[in-house]
Amino acid sequence: MLMPYILTVLMTNRCTAKCAHCCMNSGPDRSERLDFPVIRKTIDELNDISPLLTVVFAGGEPTLVKDALRQSIRHCSEIGISTRLVTNASWAKTPSTARRVLKRLKADGLRELNISTDDYHLPFIPFENVVNAWSAAKEMVFDSVVIANSVGPSSQITPECIKKRIGERVPLRFDEDGIEHVAPAADADGTYYAISNSQLQRLERGAATLSDSDFHLMSDISRLNAPCPYAIRNAALSARGSLLACCGFELDGNEVLDFGDVRTTNAARLIEKANNDVIINAIAYFGPLFLMKIVKKVAPDVSFSKKFGSVCEICRSVVKNPDAILALREHVSAFGPVVIRRRMKVAKHNQEAA
Ligand code: SF4
Ligand code: SF4
Repeated sequence: MLMPYILTVLMTNRCTAKCAHCCMNSGPDRSERLDFPVIRKTIDELNDISPLLTVVFAGGEPTLVKDALRQSIRHCSEIGISTRLVTNASWAKTPSTARRVLKRLKADGLRELNISTDDYHLPFIPFENVVNAWSAAKEMVFDSVVIANSVGPSSQITPECIKKRIGERVPLRFDEDGIEHVAPAADADGTYYAISNSQLQRLERGAATLSDSDFHLMSDISRLNAPCPYAIRNAALSARGSLLACCGFELDGNEVLDFGDVRTTNAARLIEKANNDVIINAIAYFGPLFLMKIVKKVAPDVSFSKKFGSVCEICRSVVKNPDAILALREHVSAFGPVVIRRRMKVAKHNQEAA
């Protein structure tokens, strides 16, 4: 079975910003939020069936749900699960505020800090906040402190610009082909510092409000023909209480990637149910492009964009298209056996390697 080893808890859809590219459609106008008991229940139920390595707290802006965030970090710390906070640093208005907030979270047990910034954050959060949060974090020895930065063809806030503005030669997490550097070196203080450099993705609000020229899109999408390593294994808990396949984009209510409500069903049972779904297995073992090709073959009337920039963009174009999903469900016998064979082969290989 595919088991989650990372769980992203989407604490709230509410955010201090309303970035034009937000793949979670977050903003000050959203109000969904999680309470600690629901978070604890989900973490414990998943951790019981297979140990979680890391729980990532994200959103929206997770620090807006302060008490539940701190209780959840403390709970993870008590049961030996590492924690990461993904934040836009809107709270780091001054060096002393940044220090105060991070000190508290560090005392709660927070191990990793991710600070997001790019062109679309800047109208809402000054870059100075990022500098304040970064500098404060460097006084406290986290396991990792990462600045997450997405760029498009005409972005101003690039990794080079970030390095200049914080005045440090911070290493990049990915190479030019998007491959993660192997065995990243920790700094002298034991912390892994990096800029997580990625391409801007045309997802959700970005797909609705930005134009194609804002993204690096390609018409030869053969490079995107890859299995998804995140589906189920990097599951997410939505602010509405749904267990999701991943935190790729806002997935609540999606027929394939929303596994159900953790408030009414044991999270382990939802994972088991997801593992029985051929489409989610196809995403995990072959990738979304495999599914898109099947839809094009069996239902040529279903149309797709001609250009994509990422595997998740292809995934979204399939799983959010009811006609595509209907065609896949109707023709499951055409690709189901090959997916199950691949799953068995991978399981055998993993068993032998263990
Ligand atoms: S991208 Fe991040 S900071 Fe911007 S609206 Fe979305 S959740 Fe908030
Ligand atoms: S490819 Fe699909 S399942 Fe995988 S991370 Fe992206 S959106 Fe999630």
